[in-house]
Amino acid sequence: MSGDTCAHPAAHGELVIRRCTGCDRRSHLPEPACPWCGTRDFRCEPVCGEGVVHTFTVVHRSFAPGYQGREPYVAAWVDLREGPRAFGHVVGCAPEEVRVGMPVRVTFIEDLPHWRPA
Ligand SMILES: [Zn+2]
Repeated sequence: MSGDTCAHPAAHGELVIRRCTGCDRRSHLPEPACPWCGTRDFRCEPVCGEGVVHTFTVVHRSFAPGYQGREPYVAAWVDLREGPRAFGHVVGCAPEEVRVGMPVRVTFIEDLPHWRPA
């Protein structure tokens, strides 16, 4: 990374997380300040984009703009290999095939990170 911001983490097709410069914790969440120490200064760190499903929900009726009509889909929290937890939709398999502990890899759809079976 060379001076990139986190504004468009998927622009280069790699998953980026933020590391707090105050307490060194890492977060995937786009919060304005570190939830642990309140620091508002973050570095961006690319991650390998591999992880396992921590928990998931099959969404049968979405109220999110842009997702209506795509149901059912799976929204999952994924434990990244580097440690942080990332949120995204699981694609590339049927909703009933998704399992807790399933290895997944990041894939980008319309510049948004999604997860597919690894
Ligand atoms: Zn912090």
